[in-house]
Amino acid sequence: MLTSESSVLKILLVDDSASHRMVLAAELDAMGHDTVEADCAEDALRLYKLERPDIVLMDVEMPGHNGHWAAHQIRLSDPEAWTPIIFLSGLARDDDLAAGIDAGGDDYLFKPVSPVVLQAKLRAMQRLRALSQQLLTLTDQLRASNADLQELSLRDPLTGLTNRRGLDIRLDEELRAARREKLPLTVLLLDVDNFKLYNDTAGHLQGDDCLRRIGQLLAGTCRRPRDLAARFGGEEFVILLPGTSHSGAMLFAKALRRTVHQLALPHPAHGGERCVTISGGISTAVPDGNSTIESLLSRADAALYTAKSLGRDRFFCFETQTDTTTGVAEAANYDRDKGSSADLF
Ligand SMILES: [Mg+2]
Repeated sequence: MLTSESSVLKILLVDDSASHRMVLAAELDAMGHDTVEADCAEDALRLYKLERPDIVLMDVEMPGHNGHWAAHQIRLSDPEAWTPIIFLSGLARDDDLAAGIDAGGDDYLFKPVSPVVLQAKLRAMQRLRALSQQLLTLTDQLRASNADLQELSLRDPLTGLTNRRGLDIRLDEELRAARREKLPLTVLLLDVDNFKLYNDTAGHLQGDDCLRRIGQLLAGTCRRPRDLAARFGGEEFVILLPGTSHSGAMLFAKALRRTVHQLALPHPAHGGERCVTISGGISTAVPDGNSTIESLLSRADAALYTAKSLGRDRFFCFETQTDTTTGVAEAANYDRDKGSSADLF
């Protein structure tokens, strides 16, 4: 990378005339630069890719492809980078100069080239290239900062889990994927039982700590690459299980409930005699054209409500009409008013 105008340049010198090349190479050598020589457009392209020169001095008229072609190919081969290309030509018409710039060249020198003018042009190009590289470095840094910001904007600072915004993005992606692949998608909406009481008794800082512990536990249960634990808001969390059927989701929920029991976080409202528990609603569907994020979430929310009304510390699930993966009739027939305990645990 060029850092100052005085550094040694690696210059790709392209000219079909051996004598022209010899004279120019000697001049460049006297200026302290390194030269790589090509005698045709094809070789110029090959050596450009191989040698990664700082500047290209390109003859225009050559047998076969001309210098404009070579410049165009160089630009096509390396759209991200910018390496100055200066044309050398015996042609002195305005049209030729314009054609050279159109082909991707940056400047034009007419033969015979004056060493003083050549040196001045090289310095100017060197300065521009240094600026261009600073810009590229800044662009890279900006890109990295943006990626960090994007990552931060999708993360819940308290628990470190994906936040609501990140969840919405993933839900949308997973819903589309499940629809396309005709696979079930499971959404678990869960919350910490009696959490308001927890906060009122132990204070919000301790409450935050409880949410952090539960968040860590949920993150630990998501072992497959596409499983996701997210903080939905307050003491509510969502677990997304792509490719998971109704029965698989029930097994997962049972294991999750057991793990929370094993964590044995004392609930301050009961003098430490009871532990923190969670309740959840499960919504599983093979999404069709009518399925939406809202319908999945509201189905899970209704199931969570039922789990709560049945006494908490449990997960509840009833089938959606689009769920084709199981035939758990009891769950589908669950009557909230009558309080059937079908499909509960
Ligand atoms: Mg020529």
